[in-house]
Amino acid sequence: MKIAVCASEVVPFAKTGGLADVAGALPLELELLNQEVIIIMPRYKCIQESKFKIQRLNPDISYSVIGKNSGVKVYFIEKDAYFNRDGLYGDKTGDYPDNLERFSYYSKRALDLLKEINFRPDIIHCHDWQSALIPVYLKTLYRDSPFYKNIKTLLTIHNIGYQGLFSKEEFPKLSLDWSLFNIEGLEFYGKINILKGGIEFSDSISTVSPTYSQEMQTKQFAFGLEGVLNKRRESISGILNGLDYSIWNPETDKFILKNYSLKNIEAKSQNKEELQRISNLPLKKDVPVFGIVSRLAQQKGFDILTEAIARICKMNLELIILGTGDLRYHILLKNIAKKYPKVISLRLKFDDSLAHKIYAGSDIFLMPSKYEPCGLGQMISMAYGTIPLVFKTGGLADTVSSANGFIFDKYKKEDLVKTIEKAIRVFQDKEKWLGLVKNAMQADFSWGESAKKYLALYEKTKSQ
Ligand code: ADP
Repeated sequence: MKIAVCASEVVPFAKTGGLADVAGALPLELELLNQEVIIIMPRYKCIQESKFKIQRLNPDISYSVIGKNSGVKVYFIEKDAYFNRDGLYGDKTGDYPDNLERFSYYSKRALDLLKEINFRPDIIHCHDWQSALIPVYLKTLYRDSPFYKNIKTLLTIHNIGYQGLFSKEEFPKLSLDWSLFNIEGLEFYGKINILKGGIEFSDSISTVSPTYSQEMQTKQFAFGLEGVLNKRRESISGILNGLDYSIWNPETDKFILKNYSLKNIEAKSQNKEELQRISNLPLKKDVPVFGIVSRLAQQKGFDILTEAIARICKMNLELIILGTGDLRYHILLKNIAKKYPKVISLRLKFDDSLAHKIYAGSDIFLMPSKYEPCGLGQMISMAYGTIPLVFKTGGLADTVSSANGFIFDKYKKEDLVKTIEKAIRVFQDKEKWLGLVKNAMQADFSWGESAKKYLALYEKTKSQ
């Protein structure tokens, strides 16, 4: 099978979120399954020649190769006026005002490139709104060109909250017929909605967990797209993201004090002590350490968490929070941390090394997200034998159960508090706790499994 992955960010070249992890890891796994894969992405400023072995194909296309075997070719679409900037989608002041032009240019150039290099894919795998115009163009502007006949598309939605909304006045920049600016096309309450176009024109749609694929179709989660998703419900599926165990493995992790596995699980306690020490918290063995590594956003549960935090601080626990995000949570958490210095340790920054130490040194990983398309934190924490405590939603519901974690099913601060109390109680029962740790560490979220599911979905889409 020939597959072209079109994504606006790909690890290791450029990343703002989980999309980049998927677009970087999945092609490598597909290659191991003997598939022919290429990746096409924009050439941003951060993709420097000196850092990655970059070669030139023609004046506006360069490429690099990733992977261990024969490798996967990553093609970069160059246009300095659009992509040679510090940010991927925007800067401190917000989104770049020409994002519609930037990503419609990218989408068309990606389609043209396929013909230039004579790579005729069975499937183009698009991701999020930035490449969602590809299925639209394929079925309109490129419809009559024989090269593009029978190429099928899969659109993966990583978070339906981001749709690519633009004002109607920009429509001519898309080079599409005005007849597409209607309710059956890209129109959305008087605006252009790029993701909506992708949902309507792609052959298959997927998202990053089975539960989120269902939730996403409901009014509560769809950010206004429930109607259009409902029309396509037969074509929607959910495949969990995998975890990169070469980065997240307590046996080999270079950031932690003492490496460990299930075989020497007692060594985990040395990481706990180290974490308590660097967090300026009392070195108590029998008090559970709760860890949080997260964007500080309402989506991540910080509304109910900050409402309940005064009560939580009076419990027999220690809480270590690492994160950045909304200013109001910075302020709220700073105030409470000042009040309870022996209970809370707060680091308002992005710190990869500390994140590893928190995953390894905590007993419980707190992730009460209000909605979570897939979520990585809960999978990472399980790999480290740190028990996740989550709200039952999206990928959290698909990965955490009472056998390997704590899960509450009403999004209320009372339920969060009760579940934390329960976790503290169970923590005192060493035998029960070890059972949870074993189950968590034995869970397998490797990319190999997800890649097989994507391949099956490609096959199904191809034969439609
Ligand atoms: P999302 O992509 O919605 O932010 P995920 O759980 O899918 O949430 O992934 C978040 C990733 O970012 C995890 O690997 C987590 O460890 C990491 N992360 C989040 N905040 C920080 C931070 N402040 N410092 C270090 N790593 C962080």
